[in-house]
Amino acid sequence: MAEPGSHPTEAVLSALPKDVRERWPVAVERAARKAKSVLPDQDANQLVKVAQKAGTASQRVVWLQRAASAWTKPLAQVAACRRGCSHCCHISVTITAVEADLIGRHVGIKPVRPSNAIRLQSLMQRDGAVPAVEAISALAAPAPCPFLKDRACSVYEVRPMACRLLLNLDDDDLLCRLVPGQDVPVPYADASQLRTLFLMAQANTPMADIRDFFPARTEDAGERRTPELHRLRIRSVP
Ligand code: SF4
Repeated sequence: MAEPGSHPTEAVLSALPKDVRERWPVAVERAARKAKSVLPDQDANQLVKVAQKAGTASQRVVWLQRAASAWTKPLAQVAACRRGCSHCCHISVTITAVEADLIGRHVGIKPVRPSNAIRLQSLMQRDGAVPAVEAISALAAPAPCPFLKDRACSVYEVRPMACRLLLNLDDDDLLCRLVPGQDVPVPYADASQLRTLFLMAQANTPMADIRDFFPARTEDAGERRTPELHRLRIRSVP
């Protein structure tokens, strides 16, 4: 079920379109049921252990990304996410500098070091660990991801952790559809353990939205710019 405190408020729900508003409680129940119905992939734990012994930050990130892919494999079979659905490529995609370098090497572009980058370590000193991780997940996105091409990910093999961990456990994409100016709750699978592990392993690494690491690519996507949107990250399973 949704984590305590992660449900949208009545005010948020009442501002949503009727079909979205009515879907939310149904979707939460459905997501919890689905999450209980899948058997966890044992490879995920093994891959996390390998990551913890990795010699470099870059290797650690790659192994944790593999662990994330293993963790999502059984859940993907019951999720609403389908190839060609790109709603989550229009919301915030926070990545670390290490991930930016991996993507940069893959596409042959050197990422910039964004002036607005933040470090988890600094946020934790100010706010504590849990609010800091939440703040990282809530950065807003002003445009589609620059690596979205023809509604598909053009860097799929090296896509960031944020993309690997996002799975809507509803039956269709209704709650993923963007509603300009509004936060729409989505019954995402609860990836908080892996996400926290990943972020804590890079607490002193600069983090920013993927668009800020690749501004030239984002400018290329200028005609596709969307109003500032972000999404409440509602998690549905323990
Ligand atoms: S990296 Fe790929 S999956 Fe992630 S937001 Fe960009 S296009 Fe979408």
